[in-house]
Amino acid sequence: MTEKQTRTKLVHAGTRRSQYGEVAEAIFLTQGFVYDTAEAAEARFIEAGADEFIYARYGNPTVRMFEDRIAAVEGTEDAFATASGMAAVNGALASMLRAGDHVVSARALFGSCLYILEEVLTRYGVEVTFVDGTDLAAWRAAIRPDTKAVFFETISNPTLEVIDIEAVAKLAHAVGALVIVDNVFATPIFSRAKDQGADVIVYSATKHIDGQGRCLGGVICGTRDFVRKVAEPYLKHTGGSLSPFNAWVMLKSMETLDLRVRAQAETAQALAETLEGHAALEKVIFPHLPSHPQYDLARAQMAAGGTVLALDIKGGKAGAFRFLNALEIVTISNNLGDAKSIATHPATTTHQRLTPEQRAGLGITDGLIRLSVGLEDAGDLLRDLQTALAAV
Ligand SMILES: *Cc1c(COP(=O)(O)O)cnc(C)c1O
Repeated sequence: MTEKQTRTKLVHAGTRRSQYGEVAEAIFLTQGFVYDTAEAAEARFIEAGADEFIYARYGNPTVRMFEDRIAAVEGTEDAFATASGMAAVNGALASMLRAGDHVVSARALFGSCLYILEEVLTRYGVEVTFVDGTDLAAWRAAIRPDTKAVFFETISNPTLEVIDIEAVAKLAHAVGALVIVDNVFATPIFSRAKDQGADVIVYSATKHIDGQGRCLGGVICGTRDFVRKVAEPYLKHTGGSLSPFNAWVMLKSMETLDLRVRAQAETAQALAETLEGHAALEKVIFPHLPSHPQYDLARAQMAAGGTVLALDIKGGKAGAFRFLNALEIVTISNNLGDAKSIATHPATTTHQRLTPEQRAGLGITDGLIRLSVGLEDAGDLLRDLQTALAAV
């Protein structure tokens, strides 16, 4: 059979039918599974077959369908589904690292990712070196012969720095280090992270994969060996597994993932182009705007600029708050990738924990707004944003 295209995989890959032949994927809302005999229980604990399950923390048919579907789309051998994006980030790192190991990480990270690298791993004796992720010389200087892993967000939150996956992977692989990427902003649709050299690709499924703001979830994609022999034992024993109900929501959402994300990215591109140069804006940051510092890399690495833009509003916090409070369609919240457009003020919310110096170092100004573009009509969104900018 020829390899199917992404849209086909998003609808069909990983489907497992029960004896009833249901069309829509079934939710196996069960934590346990019955064995016909004591001998069968013993055998399953020695080695479970592909259609044999033991306990939902270890695996569940609905969860397995989601894992197989996302692995098919991402192009990795396997995937392990987790209770949230953070369970996936923590699971990918903590499962493979031990005291004395060295990790190099980009500094521009989602706050909870920074917490894991800066506060959790170091507490267990892992040494972490932070670098400016866009500076290849800094990666080269920080990666050592004993470096076990590198970690970065392929597009950083919220300032949308683009990291050269291929170049960093080449440096990491030269010393045998694993390349672990948080790929949320690239989405499974625009990602080619595996081909570009990422070994382990992590998503918060809470974002575009659900895409409708309902469930937390996450996933770790990688080789079968990494997923089943490294990540799974850690996650199934420490409790980070995805619930079957949430897996079912994610499975159904994946059917429309390509359509949704492409529509959102198209609107995001149009809004970025139209708003750039507006009198109330210091700047518009969007990876596929020619003014983006890594425009050429962003074009080479991603088929679209993504669904999120950053607007630096004139007048600092006061200007940003006047803008937020004047929005009618766009909601003030902190999810992203949702069907509803969402605006966030990182300096006072998601990145409030950082010192002003740390925020300045990451380019998070007091006027910065992260705008996640939803599925509303592009013209309506543009008018909403322009009206709010007039209020600045
Ligand atoms: C949201 C997010 C996470 C965490 O995901 P949760 O599902 O909220 O745990 C991790 N990394 C990035 C880049 C994110 O945007």
